[in-house]
Amino acid sequence: MTAPEHAGPMPAEQREAQLRMPGFGSRCSSHMVTARWTAGHGWQDIRTGPLTAFELHPATMAFHYGQTIFEGLKAFWRPDGRHVLFRPGDHARRFARSARRMAMPELPEACFLAAAAALTRADRDWVPPARGHSFYLRPFMIAAEEHLSNRPAEEYLFAVIGSPARPAAAVPAPIRLWASPEYVRAADGGTGTIKCGGNYGGSYLAQRDAAEHGCHQVVWLDARERRYVEEAGGSNLFFVEGDRLVTPPLSGTLLAGITRDSILRLAGRLGLAVTEEPVTLDGWERGCRDGRITETFACGTARTLAPVGHAVTPQGEWAVGDGGTGPVTRRLLDALLDIHHGDAPDDFGWLHAV
Ligand SMILES: *Cc1c(COP(=O)(O)O)cnc(C)c1O
Repeated sequence: MTAPEHAGPMPAEQREAQLRMPGFGSRCSSHMVTARWTAGHGWQDIRTGPLTAFELHPATMAFHYGQTIFEGLKAFWRPDGRHVLFRPGDHARRFARSARRMAMPELPEACFLAAAAALTRADRDWVPPARGHSFYLRPFMIAAEEHLSNRPAEEYLFAVIGSPARPAAAVPAPIRLWASPEYVRAADGGTGTIKCGGNYGGSYLAQRDAAEHGCHQVVWLDARERRYVEEAGGSNLFFVEGDRLVTPPLSGTLLAGITRDSILRLAGRLGLAVTEEPVTLDGWERGCRDGRITETFACGTARTLAPVGHAVTPQGEWAVGDGGTGPVTRRLLDALLDIHHGDAPDDFGWLHAV
């Protein structure tokens, strides 16, 4: 084994070399914010300190029954030297919804915001100063009580860690999606609308199938009919039909992406009509083959916008447009980056200075 990647603070030179290399999630910044919750005392002990390992008893409930939730949000560098968080209040509210669904305690929105801002301030040198680059914050909460009973824990640990996110190219390369005939991500009444750990662990076998079919991600179909396109991996999906933008509605099995919502609002500005309506796998294929659907893209905080070049099913594959990155995808990505980095006014009130 090599030395642990996340051990100890890093000399400035080494950090700057890290910030020049493309990557996502492979290196954590120097600090973390932690807090504890107990049934008797509520939230307490919120502190910012150096990033260190947790020491956890093997009976810690998170290891056994999956009470773990997380968020992913970004801080951006601005030419005026300030740093801003993108829609942190929306991430805080979704984190609270995730907690509620998993019978975990809700972290007050103000605490979530303070924790995200505190980490960004402590690790301001880790925010890459470049357009399209960012500092990715990962707030999470786990059941921390030591007990083997199958019930909600009475102690929790909350933490925020961070990592620089540096895309390899200004516009990401088109991805190929595998339509999984076998596995589903989410069903009515389940946990598909929230970010709990099990949703992702449960998707990796399908993800491996996708890789075996030469694809980057799975395109998830609805659990009931295996007919409607829902999401792509951990991202929402959009389809471009001329100057109309279509995305599947929040049916109760989709994760309500904050990027999805941002795109819906920005699209109107760019003169695109937006529709939330169900899209079938067949309809997507026919639309691509007859030229009605000219672009498809996946979107989420981690990857921003990723063009979909091809879709693959056990029956065959098809290209979306010419398999490259279309003009609408580019314009929407640019419009979003303009807001992130202060090149366009923050008319929606999405930015939170730290
Ligand atoms: C996080 C996530 C998204 C994207 O949400 P954003 O708020 O845009 O980051 C989409 N789908 C799934 C399943 C997710 O976990």
